[in-house]
Amino acid sequence: MFKKILIANRGEIALRIVRACKEMGIGSVAVHSTADADAMHVRMADESVCIGPPSGAKSYLSIPSIISACEITGAEAVHPGYGFLSENAQFVQVLEDHSIAFIGPTSDHIRTMGDKITAKDTMKNLGVPCVPGSDGAVPTVEEAHEVAAEMGFPVIVKATAGGGGRGMKLARTANDLSEAFSTARSEAKGAFGNDEVYIEKYLTLPRHIEVQVFGDGKGQAVHLGERDCSLQRRHQKVFEEAPSPAIDAETRARIGKTCAEAVAAINYTGAGTIEFLFENGEFYFIEMNTRLQVEHPVTEAVYGVDLVQEQIRVAAGLPMSLEQDKLIPKGHAIECRINAEKLPEFAPSPGTIEAYHAPGGLGVRMDSAIYQGYRIPPYYDSLIGKLIVEAPDRDQALARLRRALDEFVVDGIHTTIPLFHELLDAPAVQSGDYNIHWLEKFLAGEA
Ligand code: ADP
Repeated sequence: MFKKILIANRGEIALRIVRACKEMGIGSVAVHSTADADAMHVRMADESVCIGPPSGAKSYLSIPSIISACEITGAEAVHPGYGFLSENAQFVQVLEDHSIAFIGPTSDHIRTMGDKITAKDTMKNLGVPCVPGSDGAVPTVEEAHEVAAEMGFPVIVKATAGGGGRGMKLARTANDLSEAFSTARSEAKGAFGNDEVYIEKYLTLPRHIEVQVFGDGKGQAVHLGERDCSLQRRHQKVFEEAPSPAIDAETRARIGKTCAEAVAAINYTGAGTIEFLFENGEFYFIEMNTRLQVEHPVTEAVYGVDLVQEQIRVAAGLPMSLEQDKLIPKGHAIECRINAEKLPEFAPSPGTIEAYHAPGGLGVRMDSAIYQGYRIPPYYDSLIGKLIVEAPDRDQALARLRRALDEFVVDGIHTTIPLFHELLDAPAVQSGDYNIHWLEKFLAGEA
């Protein structure tokens, strides 16, 4: 087992990984920018190294600084968390060159899945159902019109390098297509330095269902059921639950098996998520994330596993401790992403937290790195915490969430907590009858 792990991230996920290291008796090294010197993950880790100025590009995304931090501290492995360098194949390659273990899949797997066209091709060949779409990249607007006319509108133009909901444009009719095509391309060029796009049939009322998989890198893999992440704003998840109110045990076993077999066939290592749109009882693959997801705690809650500890074990070369026939979901879990944002515009709201009281009690988990007196820096993502509840069934989980939200105090900044109070009063959330567009409609006062 590793003696020391460096955590190439910040915020709640860095703290999550520090906690896993402590429970496993592994030393932890935090890295931080100058803006994060007083951050909780720095205080909680055994050691810390300042790796640069506030800008993410010059600190958390600086490969040379992170490699130096490993060398200075003698860390043998790096956990990337999510975001930042977690899906950067070049980073993994550089770590390999320095004989530092990466807690995650190989650079080849990251590269394959990081390019959505290649990912879709790979999955299709492995028998995973995909969204109907263009056969690979669509280089010209003329071809876009041909493909779309054949497929039928509406269609969505997507960047092969896309992520975080960027580089995606909807065309409802042929009249919108030329503009959608050029906007998606230029957005993709600007955000990812790669303007290659492809076209997919736009599903009108799907749910977002994703399957958690885990592989040992030696041809064995399991699935840990699904998460329903249909409540989204601007293609970003807001509220996630497991299991999905729309999936029964037979469907779960069937799609889970397809996913586990697919990742086993490519000798995938560690945690991964296969994302689908789900409409009229059919699954359509959209992408695979080769890392731990923000919403992994809902899976941990219903399956009673520690995914981060499992990632560490497998990266250290130990056998995977997960066995498919022992993975039986129990109860229901819900996660709310708490952002430092002012409603109704969702405008970033950095500042000093004047009072903080986190909810607790049976079935409540709070993953956050904030504390009273902490000043949220303006340079990073606005996620400040995740409130996760679990209970024997969905209704009890909703009741527990309401109770936990009532206990929650964050003063001095604006947060998205009030949104979750409103959501709990909405009949569609209470019944679980929602799709990926429902939240936007609700926010616009139309649902
Ligand atoms: P990203 O990598 O940017 O997160 P994804 O491909 O995972 O992009 O898509 C993110 C979200 O965009 C999905 O959860 C869904 O809401 C919407 N979306 C993507 N593809 C389609 C499609 N073919 N039809 C309808 N909605 C889609």
